[in-house]
Amino acid sequence: MPTPLYRRSTKPRGPAAFALVLLLLLCGQASAAEKLRLQLRWLHQFQFAGYYLALEKGYYRQAGLDVEILQGGPRVPRPIDSLLAGQADFAIANSGVVIARMQGKPVVALAAIMQTSPIVWIVRADSGIYSPHDLAGKRVMLMPPPESTELLITLAREGIDLNRLQIQQTSFNPQDLIDGKTDAYDGYSTNEPFWLKQQNVDYRLINPREYGVNYYNDVLTTREAVLQERPQEVEAFVQASLAGWQYALDHIEESVQLIHQRYAPNKSLEHLRFEAEELKKLIMPELVQLGHMNPGRWETIARNYVELGLAKGPVELDNFLYKRKANTDHSLLYQVLAGAFLTLLVVAGIALRFAHLTQRLRQEIERRRQAEQELRNSNHLLEELANTDRLTGQWTRRKFEEVAQQEINRAERYGLALSLIFFDIDHFKLINDQHGHEVGDQVLSGVAQRIKAQLRQSDSMCRWGGEEFIIFMPHTDLEHACAIAEKLRAMLAAEPLAGQLAVTASFGVAQWRQGQTLGELVDSADQMLYRAKHCGRNRVECLPVANG
Ligand code: GH3
Ligand code: MG
Ligand code: MG
Repeated sequence: MPTPLYRRSTKPRGPAAFALVLLLLLCGQASAAEKLRLQLRWLHQFQFAGYYLALEKGYYRQAGLDVEILQGGPRVPRPIDSLLAGQADFAIANSGVVIARMQGKPVVALAAIMQTSPIVWIVRADSGIYSPHDLAGKRVMLMPPPESTELLITLAREGIDLNRLQIQQTSFNPQDLIDGKTDAYDGYSTNEPFWLKQQNVDYRLINPREYGVNYYNDVLTTREAVLQERPQEVEAFVQASLAGWQYALDHIEESVQLIHQRYAPNKSLEHLRFEAEELKKLIMPELVQLGHMNPGRWETIARNYVELGLAKGPVELDNFLYKRKANTDHSLLYQVLAGAFLTLLVVAGIALRFAHLTQRLRQEIERRRQAEQELRNSNHLLEELANTDRLTGQWTRRKFEEVAQQEINRAERYGLALSLIFFDIDHFKLINDQHGHEVGDQVLSGVAQRIKAQLRQSDSMCRWGGEEFIIFMPHTDLEHACAIAEKLRAMLAAEPLAGQLAVTASFGVAQWRQGQTLGELVDSADQMLYRAKHCGRNRVECLPVANG
Protein backbone atom coordinates (compact mmCIF):
# COMPACT_ATOMS: atom_id res chain seq x y z
CA MET A 1 0.00 0.00 0.00
CA PRO A 2 1.37 3.39 -0.89
CA THR A 3 1.88 5.64 2.09
CA PRO A 4 0.88 9.18 1.35
CA LEU A 5 3.92 11.12 2.54
CA TYR A 6 2.24 14.34 1.70
CA ARG A 7 -1.41 14.95 2.20
CA ARG A 8 -3.10 18.21 1.67
CA SER A 9 -6.78 18.86 1.71
CA THR A 10 -8.60 22.11 1.17
CA LYS A 11 -11.36 20.98 3.50
CA PRO A 12 -11.10 23.19 6.60
CA ARG A 13 -11.73 21.78 10.06
CA GLY A 14 -14.08 22.74 12.88
CA PRO A 15 -16.88 25.32 12.69
CA ALA A 16 -15.41 26.77 9.54
CA ALA A 17 -15.66 23.38 7.87
CA PHE A 18 -19.27 23.05 8.96
CA ALA A 19 -20.05 26.46 7.52
CA LEU A 20 -18.31 25.59 4.25
CA VAL A 21 -20.06 22.24 3.93
CA LEU A 22 -23.36 23.98 4.59
CA LEU A 23 -22.54 26.56 1.97
CA LEU A 24 -21.56 23.91 -0.56
CA LEU A 25 -24.76 22.00 0.16
CA LEU A 26 -26.78 25.14 -0.38
CA CYS A 27 -24.96 25.76 -3.61
CA GLY A 28 -25.48 22.16 -4.69
CA GLN A 29 -21.74 21.60 -5.02
CA ALA A 30 -21.21 19.16 -2.18
CA SER A 31 -20.15 16.36 -4.51
CA ALA A 32 -17.41 18.58 -5.98
CA ALA A 33 -15.46 18.30 -2.72
CA GLU A 34 -15.13 14.49 -2.94
CA LYS A 35 -11.44 13.67 -2.72
CA LEU A 36 -9.46 12.83 -5.83
CA ARG A 37 -6.17 10.92 -5.44
CA LEU A 38 -3.24 11.31 -7.78
CA GLN A 39 -0.60 8.55 -7.62
CA LEU A 40 2.89 9.73 -8.61
CA ARG A 41 5.34 7.24 -10.12
CA TRP A 42 8.31 8.13 -7.97
CA LEU A 43 9.48 10.09 -4.95
CA HIS A 44 8.66 13.77 -4.71
CA GLN A 45 10.86 15.77 -7.05
CA PHE A 46 10.62 18.42 -9.73
CA GLN A 47 9.34 15.72 -12.11
CA PHE A 48 5.84 16.32 -10.64
CA ALA A 49 6.10 20.09 -10.18
CA GLY A 50 2.92 20.93 -12.12
CA TYR A 51 0.70 18.98 -9.70
CA TYR A 52 2.23 20.54 -6.59
CA LEU A 53 1.85 23.99 -8.08
CA ALA A 54 -1.77 23.35 -9.10
CA LEU A 55 -2.41 22.43 -5.48
CA GLU A 56 -0.39 25.22 -3.89
CA LYS A 57 -1.67 27.93 -6.24
CA GLY A 58 -5.26 26.84 -5.55
CA TYR A 59 -6.03 25.80 -9.14
CA TYR A 60 -7.63 22.55 -7.99
CA ARG A 61 -9.59 24.31 -5.25
CA GLN A 62 -10.82 26.98 -7.66
CA ALA A 63 -12.08 24.16 -9.90
CA GLY A 64 -14.03 22.73 -6.95
CA LEU A 65 -11.63 19.80 -6.53
CA ASP A 66 -10.14 18.32 -3.36
CA VAL A 67 -6.92 16.67 -4.50
CA GLU A 68 -4.49 14.44 -2.63
CA ILE A 69 -1.05 13.73 -4.12
CA LEU A 70 0.40 10.28 -3.32
CA GLN A 71 4.14 9.78 -3.53
CA GLY A 72 5.55 6.79 -5.38
CA GLY A 73 8.80 4.92 -4.79
CA PRO A 74 10.55 1.53 -4.93
CA ARG A 75 8.20 -0.03 -2.34
CA VAL A 76 4.98 1.47 -3.66
CA PRO A 77 2.92 -0.53 -6.19
CA ARG A 78 3.07 0.58 -9.79
CA PRO A 79 0.82 3.67 -10.25
CA ILE A 80 -1.18 1.90 -12.94
CA ASP A 81 -1.94 -0.94 -10.52
CA SER A 82 -3.08 1.52 -7.83
CA LEU A 83 -5.28 3.22 -10.41
CA LEU A 84 -6.88 -0.03 -11.59
CA ALA A 85 -7.34 -1.19 -7.98
CA GLY A 86 -9.29 2.01 -7.23
CA GLN A 87 -6.72 3.28 -4.72
CA ALA A 88 -6.15 6.33 -6.93
CA ASP A 89 -8.30 8.22 -9.38
CA PHE A 90 -5.39 9.48 -11.41
CA ALA A 91 -1.91 8.08 -11.97
CA ILE A 92 1.29 9.17 -13.62
CA ALA A 93 2.40 6.35 -15.87
CA ASN A 94 4.98 5.80 -18.57
CA SER A 95 4.10 4.88 -22.13
CA GLY A 96 3.65 1.24 -21.03
CA VAL A 97 0.15 2.24 -19.99
CA VAL A 98 -0.88 1.47 -23.57
CA ILE A 99 0.02 -2.19 -22.94
CA ALA A 100 -2.53 -2.31 -20.13
CA ARG A 101 -5.08 -0.91 -22.57
CA MET A 102 -4.25 -3.57 -25.17
CA GLN A 103 -4.68 -6.14 -22.43
CA GLY A 104 -8.21 -4.84 -22.02
CA LYS A 105 -7.65 -2.81 -18.88
CA PRO A 106 -9.86 0.30 -18.64
CA VAL A 107 -7.12 2.94 -18.56
CA VAL A 108 -7.41 6.28 -20.31
CA ALA A 109 -4.50 8.58 -21.21
CA LEU A 110 -5.42 12.18 -20.38
CA ALA A 111 -2.26 14.15 -21.15
CA ALA A 112 1.41 13.49 -21.88
CA ILE A 113 3.66 15.79 -19.90
CA MET A 114 7.04 14.71 -21.31
CA GLN A 115 7.08 14.73 -25.07
CA THR A 116 10.12 12.50 -25.00
CA SER A 117 11.35 10.04 -22.41
CA PRO A 118 14.13 10.74 -19.87
CA ILE A 119 15.13 7.06 -19.67
CA VAL A 120 18.79 6.53 -20.63
CA TRP A 121 21.75 4.32 -19.87
CA ILE A 122 24.48 6.08 -17.97
CA VAL A 123 27.98 4.74 -18.49
CA ARG A 124 31.33 5.90 -17.14
CA ALA A 125 33.30 8.12 -19.50
CA ASP A 126 36.24 5.70 -19.30
CA SER A 127 34.09 2.63 -20.03
CA GLY A 128 34.71 2.52 -23.78
CA ILE A 129 30.93 2.30 -24.30
CA TYR A 130 29.77 4.82 -26.90
CA SER A 131 26.74 3.19 -28.53
CA PRO A 132 24.27 0.39 -27.79
CA HIS A 133 26.49 -1.94 -29.81
CA ASP A 134 29.25 -1.52 -27.26
CA LEU A 135 26.93 -2.98 -24.59
CA ALA A 136 27.51 -6.49 -25.97
CA GLY A 137 29.07 -8.63 -23.28
CA LYS A 138 28.66 -5.88 -20.70
CA ARG A 139 26.69 -5.79 -17.45
CA VAL A 140 23.60 -3.77 -18.34
CA MET A 141 20.89 -2.77 -15.89
CA LEU A 142 17.25 -2.89 -17.04
CA MET A 143 14.08 -2.09 -15.14
CA PRO A 144 11.37 -4.66 -15.68
CA PRO A 145 9.23 -3.75 -18.71
CA PRO A 146 7.38 -1.66 -19.49
CA GLU A 147 9.58 0.81 -17.56
CA SER A 148 12.54 -0.11 -19.76
CA THR A 149 10.74 -0.20 -23.11
CA GLU A 150 12.66 2.68 -24.66
CA LEU A 151 15.91 0.84 -23.92
CA LEU A 152 14.64 -2.52 -25.20
CA ILE A 153 13.32 -0.95 -28.42
CA THR A 154 16.66 0.76 -28.96
CA LEU A 155 18.44 -2.60 -28.71
CA ALA A 156 15.91 -4.22 -31.04
CA ARG A 157 16.24 -1.40 -33.62
CA GLU A 158 20.01 -1.65 -33.55
CA GLY A 159 19.77 -5.43 -34.05
CA ILE A 160 21.42 -6.27 -30.76
CA ASP A 161 20.55 -9.69 -29.35
CA LEU A 162 19.54 -9.44 -25.68
CA ASN A 163 21.38 -12.72 -25.02
CA ARG A 164 24.67 -10.97 -25.75
CA LEU A 165 24.15 -8.65 -22.78
CA GLN A 166 24.57 -9.51 -19.12
CA ILE A 167 21.22 -8.15 -18.00
CA GLN A 168 21.03 -7.00 -14.40
CA GLN A 169 17.98 -6.02 -12.38
CA THR A 170 18.16 -2.29 -11.77
CA SER A 171 19.44 -1.37 -8.32
CA PHE A 172 18.09 2.20 -8.26
CA ASN A 173 21.51 3.08 -6.85
CA PRO A 174 23.96 4.94 -9.16
CA GLN A 175 26.71 4.25 -6.62
CA ASP A 176 26.91 0.83 -8.34
CA LEU A 177 28.36 2.57 -11.38
CA ILE A 178 31.06 4.19 -9.28
CA ASP A 179 31.76 0.96 -7.43
CA GLY A 180 32.09 -0.97 -10.73
CA LYS A 181 29.14 -3.24 -9.98
CA THR A 182 27.60 -2.47 -13.40
CA ASP A 183 28.73 -1.09 -16.78
CA ALA A 184 25.49 0.60 -17.81
CA TYR A 185 23.14 2.05 -15.27
CA ASP A 186 19.54 2.71 -16.35
CA GLY A 187 18.36 6.05 -15.05
CA TYR A 188 16.77 9.36 -15.87
CA SER A 189 18.63 12.06 -17.79
CA THR A 190 16.95 14.49 -15.38
CA ASN A 191 18.27 12.90 -12.21
CA GLU A 192 21.38 10.76 -11.82
CA PRO A 193 23.77 12.84 -13.98
CA PHE A 194 23.54 15.57 -11.35
CA TRP A 195 24.51 13.16 -8.61
CA LEU A 196 27.47 11.82 -10.65
CA LYS A 197 28.66 15.36 -11.35
CA GLN A 198 28.67 16.02 -7.62
CA GLN A 199 30.79 12.89 -7.12
CA ASN A 200 33.18 14.15 -9.82
CA VAL A 201 32.52 11.07 -11.90
CA ASP A 202 32.75 11.61 -15.66
CA TYR A 203 29.91 9.89 -17.44
CA ARG A 204 28.25 9.49 -20.83
CA LEU A 205 24.58 8.96 -21.78
CA ILE A 206 23.38 6.28 -24.19
CA ASN A 207 20.16 8.01 -25.12
CA PRO A 208 17.36 6.18 -27.04
CA ARG A 209 16.35 9.54 -28.51
CA GLU A 210 19.56 9.50 -30.56
CA TYR A 211 18.42 6.20 -32.10
CA GLY A 212 15.00 7.47 -33.12
CA VAL A 213 13.10 6.22 -30.09
CA ASN A 214 10.80 9.01 -28.95
CA TYR A 215 8.27 7.90 -26.39
CA TYR A 216 5.89 9.91 -24.29
CA ASN A 217 6.53 9.83 -20.60
CA ASP A 218 4.81 10.87 -17.43
CA VAL A 219 1.39 10.37 -18.91
CA LEU A 220 -1.50 11.51 -16.75
CA THR A 221 -4.02 8.67 -16.72
CA THR A 222 -7.34 7.76 -15.20
CA ARG A 223 -9.82 4.88 -15.12
CA GLU A 224 -12.68 4.66 -17.60
CA ALA A 225 -15.13 4.48 -14.67
CA VAL A 226 -13.87 7.75 -13.17
CA LEU A 227 -14.21 9.45 -16.55
CA GLN A 228 -17.75 8.12 -17.00
CA GLU A 229 -18.92 9.00 -13.50
CA ARG A 230 -17.20 12.36 -13.07
CA PRO A 231 -16.41 13.69 -16.55
CA GLN A 232 -16.51 17.34 -15.49
CA GLU A 233 -14.15 16.76 -12.59
CA VAL A 234 -11.74 14.88 -14.84
CA GLU A 235 -11.71 17.77 -17.28
CA ALA A 236 -11.31 20.27 -14.45
CA PHE A 237 -8.45 18.19 -13.04
CA VAL A 238 -6.64 18.07 -16.40
CA GLN A 239 -7.08 21.81 -16.91
CA ALA A 240 -5.93 22.72 -13.40
CA SER A 241 -2.94 20.33 -13.64
CA LEU A 242 -1.80 21.81 -16.96
CA ALA A 243 -2.22 25.29 -15.50
CA GLY A 244 -0.01 24.16 -12.61
CA TRP A 245 2.58 22.93 -15.10
CA GLN A 246 2.51 26.18 -16.99
CA TYR A 247 3.08 28.06 -13.75
CA ALA A 248 5.89 25.75 -12.66
CA LEU A 249 7.73 26.11 -15.97
CA ASP A 250 7.26 29.86 -15.97
CA HIS A 251 8.47 30.19 -12.35
CA ILE A 252 11.16 27.56 -11.99
CA GLU A 253 13.02 29.12 -9.07
CA GLU A 254 9.84 29.69 -7.05
CA SER A 255 8.73 26.11 -7.77
CA VAL A 256 12.15 24.70 -6.84
CA GLN A 257 12.03 26.52 -3.49
CA LEU A 258 8.49 25.32 -2.81
CA ILE A 259 9.21 21.69 -3.69
CA HIS A 260 12.36 21.71 -1.57
CA GLN A 261 10.51 23.19 1.39
CA ARG A 262 7.31 21.17 1.35
CA TYR A 263 7.84 18.00 -0.65
CA ALA A 264 11.43 16.98 -1.22
CA PRO A 265 13.65 18.38 1.57
CA ASN A 266 16.20 15.62 0.87
CA LYS A 267 16.86 16.93 -2.61
CA SER A 268 19.15 19.94 -2.69
CA LEU A 269 18.04 23.14 -4.37
CA GLU A 270 20.83 22.65 -6.96
CA HIS A 271 19.59 19.15 -7.71
CA LEU A 272 16.01 20.36 -8.15
CA ARG A 273 17.21 23.20 -10.41
CA PHE A 274 19.17 20.71 -12.54
CA GLU A 275 16.12 18.48 -12.76
CA ALA A 276 13.91 21.41 -13.74
CA GLU A 277 16.21 22.47 -16.58
CA GLU A 278 16.57 18.92 -17.92
CA LEU A 279 12.85 18.31 -17.61
CA LYS A 280 12.07 21.44 -19.59
CA LYS A 281 14.05 19.96 -22.49
CA LEU A 282 11.76 16.92 -22.44
CA ILE A 283 8.51 18.86 -22.02
CA MET A 284 9.46 21.33 -24.78
CA PRO A 285 6.86 23.93 -23.73
CA GLU A 286 8.03 26.34 -26.43
CA LEU A 287 7.34 23.81 -29.19
CA VAL A 288 4.45 21.67 -28.00
CA GLN A 289 1.23 22.57 -26.27
CA LEU A 290 1.40 21.28 -22.71
CA GLY A 291 -0.06 17.79 -22.41
CA HIS A 292 -0.33 17.26 -26.15
CA MET A 293 -0.76 13.69 -27.45
CA ASN A 294 -0.54 12.64 -31.07
CA PRO A 295 -2.63 9.50 -31.85
CA GLY A 296 -0.13 8.53 -34.56
CA ARG A 297 2.73 8.50 -32.09
CA TRP A 298 0.71 6.46 -29.62
CA GLU A 299 0.03 3.95 -32.39
CA THR A 300 3.74 3.63 -33.14
CA ILE A 301 4.50 3.16 -29.44
CA ALA A 302 1.77 0.51 -29.17
CA ARG A 303 3.11 -1.36 -32.24
CA ASN A 304 6.62 -1.31 -30.78
CA TYR A 305 5.26 -3.02 -27.67
CA VAL A 306 3.58 -5.62 -29.85
CA GLU A 307 6.89 -6.14 -31.75
CA LEU A 308 8.70 -6.66 -28.45
CA GLY A 309 6.15 -9.29 -27.49
CA LEU A 310 5.02 -7.20 -24.51
CA ALA A 311 1.48 -6.90 -25.87
CA LYS A 312 -0.66 -8.76 -28.33
CA GLY A 313 -2.78 -6.04 -29.83
CA PRO A 314 -4.80 -5.27 -31.80
CA VAL A 315 -3.76 -1.64 -31.54
CA GLU A 316 -7.09 -0.02 -30.83
CA LEU A 317 -6.69 3.42 -29.29
CA ASP A 318 -10.20 4.79 -29.65
CA ASN A 319 -11.17 4.66 -25.98
CA PHE A 320 -7.60 4.98 -24.78
CA LEU A 321 -7.06 8.59 -25.78
CA TYR A 322 -9.11 11.12 -23.85
CA LYS A 323 -11.10 13.37 -26.11
CA ARG A 324 -11.19 16.69 -24.37
CA LYS A 325 -14.33 18.63 -25.05
CA ALA A 326 -13.66 22.01 -23.67
CA ASN A 327 -9.91 22.16 -23.72
CA THR A 328 -9.28 23.20 -27.27
CA ASP A 329 -7.23 26.32 -26.96
CA HIS A 330 -8.73 28.74 -29.42
CA SER A 331 -7.09 31.75 -27.87
CA LEU A 332 -4.63 32.16 -30.75
CA LEU A 333 -7.46 31.77 -33.26
CA TYR A 334 -9.53 34.29 -31.32
CA GLN A 335 -6.55 36.65 -31.21
CA VAL A 336 -6.07 36.30 -34.95
CA LEU A 337 -9.80 36.76 -35.54
CA ALA A 338 -9.89 39.72 -33.19
CA GLY A 339 -6.86 41.19 -34.98
CA ALA A 340 -8.46 40.61 -38.38
CA PHE A 341 -11.72 42.11 -37.15
CA LEU A 342 -9.92 45.15 -35.76
CA THR A 343 -8.00 45.57 -39.01
CA LEU A 344 -11.27 45.28 -40.89
CA LEU A 345 -12.82 47.88 -38.62
CA VAL A 346 -9.91 50.27 -39.14
CA VAL A 347 -9.96 49.72 -42.92
CA ALA A 348 -13.75 50.13 -42.99
CA GLY A 349 -13.40 53.26 -40.87
CA ILE A 350 -10.81 54.69 -43.25
CA ALA A 351 -12.93 53.71 -46.26
CA LEU A 352 -16.00 55.32 -44.71
CA ARG A 353 -14.01 58.41 -43.90
CA PHE A 354 -12.76 58.52 -47.49
CA ALA A 355 -16.27 57.99 -48.84
CA HIS A 356 -17.50 60.76 -46.58
CA LEU A 357 -14.67 63.08 -47.64
CA THR A 358 -15.21 62.23 -51.31
CA GLN A 359 -18.90 62.98 -50.93
CA ARG A 360 -18.12 66.28 -49.25
CA LEU A 361 -15.54 67.07 -51.90
CA ARG A 362 -18.10 66.36 -54.65
CA GLN A 363 -20.64 68.58 -52.89
CA GLU A 364 -18.03 71.30 -52.48
CA ILE A 365 -17.03 71.08 -56.16
CA GLU A 366 -20.69 71.27 -57.20
CA ARG A 367 -21.29 74.18 -54.82
CA ARG A 368 -18.30 76.03 -56.26
CA ARG A 369 -19.36 75.25 -59.82
CA GLN A 370 -22.79 76.72 -59.07
CA ALA A 371 -21.26 79.71 -57.32
CA GLU A 372 -18.96 80.29 -60.31
CA GLN A 373 -21.92 80.02 -62.68
CA GLU A 374 -23.86 82.48 -60.54
CA LEU A 375 -20.85 84.75 -60.48
CA ARG A 376 -20.54 84.49 -64.25
CA ASN A 377 -24.26 85.24 -64.59
CA SER A 378 -24.12 88.22 -62.29
CA ASN A 379 -20.91 89.43 -63.96
CA HIS A 380 -22.67 89.15 -67.27
CA LEU A 381 -25.64 91.01 -65.84
CA LEU A 382 -23.39 93.67 -64.37
CA GLU A 383 -21.63 94.01 -67.68
CA GLU A 384 -24.97 94.31 -69.44
CA LEU A 385 -25.98 96.95 -66.95
CA ALA A 386 -22.71 98.76 -67.37
CA ASN A 387 -22.98 98.56 -71.17
CA THR A 388 -26.63 99.49 -71.54
CA ASP A 389 -28.25 102.81 -70.82
CA ARG A 390 -31.20 102.15 -68.61
CA LEU A 391 -33.54 104.77 -70.00
CA THR A 392 -33.03 104.33 -73.73
CA GLY A 393 -31.71 100.76 -73.95
CA GLN A 394 -28.77 101.96 -76.06
CA TRP A 395 -25.10 101.32 -75.44
CA THR A 396 -23.36 103.41 -72.88
CA ARG A 397 -20.37 105.57 -73.68
CA ARG A 398 -18.05 102.92 -72.18
CA LYS A 399 -19.30 100.11 -74.44
CA PHE A 400 -19.31 102.45 -77.44
CA GLU A 401 -15.69 103.43 -76.89
CA GLU A 402 -14.67 99.76 -76.61
CA VAL A 403 -16.43 98.68 -79.84
CA ALA A 404 -15.52 101.84 -81.79
CA GLN A 405 -11.86 101.40 -80.92
CA GLN A 406 -11.90 97.85 -82.32
CA GLU A 407 -13.56 99.13 -85.51
CA ILE A 408 -10.98 101.90 -85.89
CA ASN A 409 -8.19 99.31 -85.47
CA ARG A 410 -9.72 97.17 -88.20
CA ALA A 411 -10.27 100.16 -90.49
CA GLU A 412 -6.66 101.17 -89.92
CA ARG A 413 -5.35 97.71 -90.75
CA TYR A 414 -7.51 97.11 -93.82
CA GLY A 415 -7.93 100.73 -95.02
CA LEU A 416 -11.68 100.65 -94.56
CA ALA A 417 -14.05 103.64 -94.51
CA LEU A 418 -15.80 104.55 -91.23
CA SER A 419 -18.10 107.43 -90.30
CA LEU A 420 -19.74 108.83 -87.18
CA ILE A 421 -22.97 110.80 -86.66
CA PHE A 422 -23.37 112.96 -83.54
CA PHE A 423 -26.92 114.15 -82.94
CA ASP A 424 -28.65 116.19 -80.19
CA ILE A 425 -32.36 116.82 -79.62
CA ASP A 426 -33.31 120.42 -80.26
CA HIS A 427 -34.62 122.56 -77.39
CA PHE A 428 -35.02 119.53 -75.21
CA LYS A 429 -34.87 121.65 -72.11
CA LEU A 430 -38.06 123.24 -73.30
CA ILE A 431 -39.79 119.87 -73.56
CA ASN A 432 -38.79 119.12 -69.98
CA ASP A 433 -39.93 122.52 -68.86
CA GLN A 434 -43.27 122.43 -70.70
CA HIS A 435 -44.26 118.78 -70.23
CA GLY A 436 -42.30 117.67 -67.24
CA HIS A 437 -39.27 115.43 -66.77
CA GLU A 438 -41.22 112.25 -67.20
CA VAL A 439 -42.43 113.18 -70.64
CA GLY A 440 -38.86 114.30 -71.32
CA ASP A 441 -37.75 110.72 -70.51
CA GLN A 442 -40.38 109.28 -72.83
CA VAL A 443 -39.21 111.59 -75.60
CA LEU A 444 -35.59 110.51 -75.04
CA SER A 445 -36.40 106.80 -75.24
CA GLY A 446 -38.89 107.32 -78.13
CA VAL A 447 -36.34 109.22 -80.26
CA ALA A 448 -33.67 106.60 -79.57
CA GLN A 449 -35.97 103.75 -80.61
CA ARG A 450 -37.06 105.55 -83.77
CA ILE A 451 -33.51 106.23 -84.85
CA LYS A 452 -32.23 102.76 -83.89
CA ALA A 453 -35.01 101.17 -85.98
CA GLN A 454 -33.64 102.89 -89.05
CA LEU A 455 -30.04 101.71 -88.66
CA ARG A 456 -28.27 98.72 -90.23
CA GLN A 457 -27.16 95.73 -88.20
CA SER A 458 -23.55 96.73 -88.54
CA ASP A 459 -24.19 100.24 -87.18
CA SER A 460 -24.16 100.84 -83.46
CA MET A 461 -25.69 103.59 -81.42
CA CYS A 462 -24.90 104.96 -77.96
CA ARG A 463 -26.26 107.54 -75.60
CA TRP A 464 -23.33 109.91 -75.26
CA GLY A 465 -24.99 111.82 -72.43
CA GLY A 466 -28.20 113.84 -71.70
CA GLU A 467 -30.06 114.09 -75.00
CA GLU A 468 -26.96 113.48 -77.14
CA PHE A 469 -26.42 110.30 -79.18
CA ILE A 470 -23.70 108.91 -81.44
CA ILE A 471 -24.20 106.57 -84.39
CA PHE A 472 -21.12 104.66 -85.41
CA MET A 473 -21.02 103.25 -88.94
CA PRO A 474 -18.28 100.93 -90.16
CA HIS A 475 -17.73 100.43 -93.89
CA THR A 476 -19.43 103.79 -94.49
CA ASP A 477 -17.97 106.87 -96.15
CA LEU A 478 -19.02 110.48 -95.50
CA GLU A 479 -21.41 110.63 -98.37
CA HIS A 480 -23.38 107.66 -97.23
CA ALA A 481 -23.26 108.77 -93.64
CA CYS A 482 -24.61 112.25 -94.53
CA ALA A 483 -27.39 110.67 -96.53
CA ILE A 484 -28.34 108.49 -93.60
CA ALA A 485 -28.22 111.46 -91.22
CA GLU A 486 -30.43 113.44 -93.49
CA LYS A 487 -32.88 110.54 -93.72
CA LEU A 488 -32.98 110.29 -89.94
CA ARG A 489 -33.46 114.03 -89.42
CA ALA A 490 -36.30 114.08 -91.94
CA MET A 491 -37.94 111.04 -90.40
CA LEU A 492 -37.93 112.66 -86.95
CA ALA A 493 -39.14 116.00 -88.14
CA ALA A 494 -41.89 114.48 -90.25
CA GLU A 495 -43.82 112.74 -87.55
CA PRO A 496 -44.52 114.07 -84.03
CA LEU A 497 -43.82 111.67 -81.21
CA ALA A 498 -46.94 109.85 -80.00
CA GLY A 499 -48.79 111.81 -82.67
CA GLN A 500 -48.63 115.11 -80.77
CA LEU A 501 -45.11 116.11 -79.73
CA ALA A 502 -42.98 117.63 -82.46
CA VAL A 503 -39.35 116.77 -81.91
CA THR A 504 -36.38 117.62 -84.10
CA ALA A 505 -32.71 117.01 -83.80
CA SER A 506 -29.49 118.40 -85.19
CA PHE A 507 -26.81 116.14 -86.75
CA GLY A 508 -23.06 116.49 -87.20
CA VAL A 509 -21.28 113.96 -89.44
CA ALA A 510 -17.57 113.20 -89.86
CA GLN A 511 -15.58 110.47 -91.62
CA TRP A 512 -12.64 108.90 -89.91
CA ARG A 513 -9.24 109.70 -91.36
CA GLN A 514 -6.15 107.50 -91.17
CA GLY A 515 -4.26 108.12 -87.98
CA GLN A 516 -7.19 109.86 -86.28
CA THR A 517 -8.06 108.76 -82.75
CA LEU A 518 -11.58 108.03 -81.62
CA GLY A 519 -11.59 111.16 -79.47
CA GLU A 520 -10.53 113.27 -82.43
CA LEU A 521 -13.25 111.73 -84.60
CA VAL A 522 -15.94 112.43 -81.96
CA ASP A 523 -14.67 116.02 -81.67
CA SER A 524 -14.93 116.48 -85.42
CA ALA A 525 -18.55 115.27 -85.48
CA ASP A 526 -19.31 117.41 -82.39
CA GLN A 527 -18.02 120.49 -84.19
CA MET A 528 -20.37 119.73 -87.08
CA LEU A 529 -23.25 119.31 -84.61
CA TYR A 530 -22.37 122.66 -83.08
CA ARG A 531 -22.44 124.15 -86.51
CA ALA A 532 -25.86 122.61 -87.21
CA LYS A 533 -27.22 124.14 -83.96
CA HIS A 534 -25.66 127.42 -84.80
CA CYS A 535 -27.18 127.37 -88.26
CA GLY A 536 -30.72 127.04 -86.94
CA ARG A 537 -31.09 123.41 -85.73
CA ASN A 538 -33.01 120.55 -87.37
CA ARG A 539 -30.26 120.15 -89.92
CA VAL A 540 -27.28 118.02 -90.89
CA GLU A 541 -23.74 119.34 -91.13
CA CYS A 542 -21.04 117.18 -92.69
CA LEU A 543 -17.33 117.76 -92.34
CA PRO A 544 -15.85 117.70 -95.79
CA VAL A 545 -13.14 115.06 -96.10
CA ALA A 546 -10.74 117.34 -97.88
CA ASN A 547 -10.98 119.87 -95.08
CA GLY A 548 -10.40 117.35 -92.36
P1 GH3 B 1 -30.33 122.88 -77.70
O1 GH3 B 1 -31.34 122.87 -78.74
O2 GH3 B 1 -29.32 123.89 -77.76
O3 GH3 B 1 -29.72 121.48 -77.58
O4 GH3 B 1 -31.13 123.15 -76.38
P2 GH3 B 1 -31.42 122.14 -75.33
O5 GH3 B 1 -32.47 122.68 -74.41
O6 GH3 B 1 -31.80 120.77 -75.89
O7 GH3 B 1 -30.08 121.93 -74.62
P3 GH3 B 1 -29.56 122.04 -73.15
O8 GH3 B 1 -28.20 121.44 -73.07
O9 GH3 B 1 -29.67 123.43 -72.71
O10 GH3 B 1 -30.58 121.25 -72.29
C1 GH3 B 1 -30.54 119.83 -72.21
C2 GH3 B 1 -31.49 119.39 -71.24
O11 GH3 B 1 -31.71 118.03 -71.22
C3 GH3 B 1 -31.05 119.78 -69.84
C4 GH3 B 1 -31.39 118.54 -69.01
O12 GH3 B 1 -32.22 118.85 -67.90
C5 GH3 B 1 -32.13 117.68 -69.94
N1 GH3 B 1 -31.84 116.34 -69.71
C6 GH3 B 1 -30.63 115.74 -69.74
N2 GH3 B 1 -30.76 114.41 -69.45
C7 GH3 B 1 -32.09 114.15 -69.24
C8 GH3 B 1 -32.85 112.99 -68.93
O13 GH3 B 1 -32.36 111.88 -68.77
N3 GH3 B 1 -34.21 113.13 -68.83
C9 GH3 B 1 -34.83 114.30 -69.00
N4 GH3 B 1 -36.12 114.34 -68.89
N5 GH3 B 1 -34.13 115.40 -69.23
C10 GH3 B 1 -32.79 115.36 -69.41
MG1 MG C 1 -30.36 119.60 -77.11
MG1 MG D 1 -27.45 118.89 -75.50
